[in-house]
Amino acid sequence: MRVKYTVNIYLFLFALVLLFPNCKDSKTKSKVFVEERQKSYSRIRYRIDSHAHIGYDGFDRAIRIMDLAGIRRLVNLSGGIPGYDFEIMQALANTTKNRIVNFVNLNWYYIDHPEIFQRVNIRNLNRAKEMGAKGLKIFKSLGLGIRFYDGRLMRVDEEILDPIWKECGRLGLPVAIHSADPVAFFKPPTIDNERYIELLAHPNWSYYGKDYPTFEELIHQFENLVKKHPETTFIGVHFGNYAENPDFVGEMLDKYPNYYIDIAARVPEFGRHNAKKMHDFFIRYQDRILFGTDIGVYSDSLWLGSKGFEPEPSDEDAVEFYRKHYKYFETGVTQMEHMTPVQGDWKIDAIDLPDEVLEKLYYRNAEKILKITLFGEE
Ligand SMILES: [Zn+2]
Repeated sequence: MRVKYTVNIYLFLFALVLLFPNCKDSKTKSKVFVEERQKSYSRIRYRIDSHAHIGYDGFDRAIRIMDLAGIRRLVNLSGGIPGYDFEIMQALANTTKNRIVNFVNLNWYYIDHPEIFQRVNIRNLNRAKEMGAKGLKIFKSLGLGIRFYDGRLMRVDEEILDPIWKECGRLGLPVAIHSADPVAFFKPPTIDNERYIELLAHPNWSYYGKDYPTFEELIHQFENLVKKHPETTFIGVHFGNYAENPDFVGEMLDKYPNYYIDIAARVPEFGRHNAKKMHDFFIRYQDRILFGTDIGVYSDSLWLGSKGFEPEPSDEDAVEFYRKHYKYFETGVTQMEHMTPVQGDWKIDAIDLPDEVLEKLYYRNAEKILKITLFGEE
């Protein structure tokens, strides 16, 4: 009887808490919790994620993940095309008080009429810049997907694009460019391909055979482009589009002062190299590398660097995805699980960078190259 009475009292108190929660108190508590979590994740408090893709329905969700993961600002490279969706993406970015900013994309419709193509895109670049675009993003479709009427693939260094790169230089808009793809996607998609599982999940990511250029040919076109336009700032995304070969990436950084790279979706790949070698790379090129993850945020879907057959990731998975980046750069642990398991079944050794280098990687380089600030005072 007494036990029952006590239980009832507890039930009554519990119901009271449910009915009249002290909102202020619980909010403070969750804030403290978030701050504690961030601190335990990283030596540096805030970062700029300079490589993300946010759908028009993903802005609120992205802000929630950013708050949990210590991302102060984020660059949406899928800002779209002026006259189609760029204006809407800018309005959505404004609702985040510009914690999320946009890059603009090209309109490829008129490539068979070069003068019209150039005029439309140069006008769009100017409009986008006025509206607040922070740069231009070129997807891997340039070189692998955009075709002229006669079926020929447009080259990365195609001449009809020259006026567009020049205009970006004149406007001070950096060009983030994805050329080619992992080397394994250019090899036969058979069971001995080291990215077999990823290719099974995305068969159209295989560029083996057909009339696709080789990986080497695409990288050659890409280098030629960076070399041809020293007045334009280029960011070679995905670790300079060649995470398998840091020596090549370092040589390009040495040769072209207008060239920068990001690390998006390639920590698992370059993390396979010896930790000392990668540590030295990040020290040597500490002024040239941007932090970015390639996270994709939509209301019903998340991309964490890539995607396989696993169930849809949660916001907490996204925070863990970020946390593994911090672990790689900020600790010296060996044989850690990497952040995008579908990319390959291997472990990586973390590279323990000093604080000054981390600050450059996490936000100072982005502030300089993208002309944004960590706290959005621009
Ligand atoms: Zn991307």
